[in-house]
Amino acid sequence: MRNLTIRTMLLFLLLVFFQSGASAQEPPVKNIIFMIGDGMGLTQTYSAMLRAERPLAFERAQYIGLSKTYSANNRVTDSAASGTAMATGHKTYNGAIGVDTDKKPVENIAERARKKGLATGIVVTKDITDATPAAFMSHQPSRKMAEEIASDIASSGVDLFIGGGRNRFEQRKDGIDLTDRLRKQGYEIAYTLDEVKNVNSGKLAGLLAPGHMKKMTEGRGDYLPEATAQALSILKNNSPKGFFLMVEGSQIDSGGHANDAEVVISETLDFDKAIAVAFDFADRNPGTLVVVTADHETGGLTIPSNKSDFTLGESGIQHLFSTKGHTGVMVPVYAYGAGARNFSTIMENTDLPKKMAALLGLPQ
Ligand SMILES: [Zn+2]
Repeated sequence: MRNLTIRTMLLFLLLVFFQSGASAQEPPVKNIIFMIGDGMGLTQTYSAMLRAERPLAFERAQYIGLSKTYSANNRVTDSAASGTAMATGHKTYNGAIGVDTDKKPVENIAERARKKGLATGIVVTKDITDATPAAFMSHQPSRKMAEEIASDIASSGVDLFIGGGRNRFEQRKDGIDLTDRLRKQGYEIAYTLDEVKNVNSGKLAGLLAPGHMKKMTEGRGDYLPEATAQALSILKNNSPKGFFLMVEGSQIDSGGHANDAEVVISETLDFDKAIAVAFDFADRNPGTLVVVTADHETGGLTIPSNKSDFTLGESGIQHLFSTKGHTGVMVPVYAYGAGARNFSTIMENTDLPKKMAALLGLPQ
């Protein structure tokens, strides 16, 4: 009897041992949240960290890498070529949206994910037809073809897209109202954040501004973290197989072009709130990978020596820009959750979708 009890206990301990061993193993990647800070180099991130009086979500990243952003025809990329590189795995010419150097359409990771039954979504803070989101939903030889890009978006089959750009859909030169087309495909059309929050599943087109959305300095509020949270809940409800969501902090770039450190910092802090939402979702939903990076750096931002630094605190920090344009420096990659360790290398921006597609098990 006593022997039996000991044997039972040993068996129980063995079972506990093996079970904990199994649960410590990383689950396969099912959901990917790909977050792009437009124009967000290392100094943009660090400037936001210096401003915040708390650790940022960036600092929760489990693995860090670096991405080379150059395009096929320029050491310094634009958002179209870099967005296309990160969506399709192809380096292309500046200005290209989802096409290669021969202007041939190349499949993007969202299209490949949909073929496998995953839900897909795009959330941005600018016009939804802007270069970065366009690269994940459209194929056009030039980023300037905003109305053609809107038509592509309306027929892309994406589960949801949220941002500005309402006029590209409703006030078009060709007179077509693309929101009619979207409604026929079963999309809910939302014109405010409250309307976005009323949608819990199904297809959603969020057109929250006529063109670009407001900047944080103009009072955009918590739109990005809240729209990100809503998008995650909708996509999770839409497919048991998983999802691919791209979230862009679109206006960090605008601050860089304007050499306006306040815009850069407020937009990066806002983006960080959305990153916190994504990391928290990954904590609650095993099998979720979050990859945060930039398409390029904007403004050549640096923090030069300044004698009053520590006596004046954060206000003693000088933010010095070296250009009104983009720069060719590498940008950081922050990874969190299932499969994150694969991003702790120096990589081409085209490696990002290749690694993500491999982790999702998407066929070539
Ligand atoms: Zn730019």
